[in-house]
Amino acid sequence: VLEFKCKKSQLSPKYKKNFKMKSLYIHIPFCDRKCFYCSFVVSIGQVQRSEQYIECLKREAELYKGSNIASVYIGGGTPTFLDVDQLECLVGIVKEYFNVEKNCEWTIESNPENLNAAKLRVLKKSGVSRISLGIQTFNDEYLCYLGRNHDAESAVRAYYDIRAAGFENVSVDLMFSFPGQTEEHLEKDILKLGQLKSEHVSLYALTIEKNSKFYTKNFCLDDNDVRGKQYVRICGLLQQMGFEQYEISNFAKPGYYSKHNMHYWQGGRYIGLGVGAHSFMGRQRTWNVSRLMDYMCRVEQGKSPQDGRDILTSYDQLKEILLFGLRMNQGVNISQAERQCGCRLQSDDVEIIRSFIKEGFLMWDKKNLKTTERGRLVLDELCARMV
Ligand code: SF4
Repeated sequence: VLEFKCKKSQLSPKYKKNFKMKSLYIHIPFCDRKCFYCSFVVSIGQVQRSEQYIECLKREAELYKGSNIASVYIGGGTPTFLDVDQLECLVGIVKEYFNVEKNCEWTIESNPENLNAAKLRVLKKSGVSRISLGIQTFNDEYLCYLGRNHDAESAVRAYYDIRAAGFENVSVDLMFSFPGQTEEHLEKDILKLGQLKSEHVSLYALTIEKNSKFYTKNFCLDDNDVRGKQYVRICGLLQQMGFEQYEISNFAKPGYYSKHNMHYWQGGRYIGLGVGAHSFMGRQRTWNVSRLMDYMCRVEQGKSPQDGRDILTSYDQLKEILLFGLRMNQGVNISQAERQCGCRLQSDDVEIIRSFIKEGFLMWDKKNLKTTERGRLVLDELCARMV
């Protein structure tokens, strides 16, 4: 339970609500095959285990029975790898074990190759309000290079199938910084993205992560200057198309910010179900085991699937809110965050913030500390120096 050192009455109604409500994340680890850049917790060729896995999710959900939920995010892996009956069962678990708020934002991740009209119908009927579609690029050569299991044509078809099923909030994942990617390639991708008229875009620079196939093959990326210029170019193009950038990697049409992600970034509580999932309850962060069989064995034996926990001090929590807040364009209200956590930033933090402001990486906008455009290009480095 989160213990406030300050009086709750000092917090704005929005923050009080944020403490009470939780977000729910459910991890579905199955994928058809592993993309070459992927380092997530995924299980390939385990389709026969999906039924058993959902049963385990149900047993884990029982532990949190009755929790109030403001947003649901079903991610993976590939949640739409599940068949129609399994998807129906999954959303049934959410409804049975949690008090889902009336206007809850309910997102499911999907890939173009395993979406169909029947699955979309079930999701729509069950209250899923938002689909996040993993398109990545409209260039078939790059899709092949990434090891994706779809081509541009099927991605566009899946997008229009989602619209035909009645979804009014669609997010598209887009990736950039492929080796040798020219300005022309980039602009073509953004142009095609714009034609879809999605409400939201999540933008990712390709990175070479440990545990990915690219890493084992020693793949190299273009240098950081090229990547930085590409990022600035994409941000500009998306803005011209009517997207507001509200976070370093996220863009939305007005009114379509992801509530689920905002809740995470503002230090809200969340419950994570499934293999490798993390939960955060006030001061305590826990995470589940990351191997599918370990997770299922533990749950079936009635044991906790948790593999570890961190107890955050008030100060740890404040630093997290600061670092996440700097990812958001609105920045972070430091005084509010200090009241929320019941402690203050230390003199070293204040000193480093002052130096970043002086160098033009951070700025004050009324009560909020924000990252400047220049700062956004080196945000990882800034955060590393503030940890
Ligand atoms: S679809 Fe997503 S989770 Fe699955 S392997 Fe590819 S990148 Fe990883």
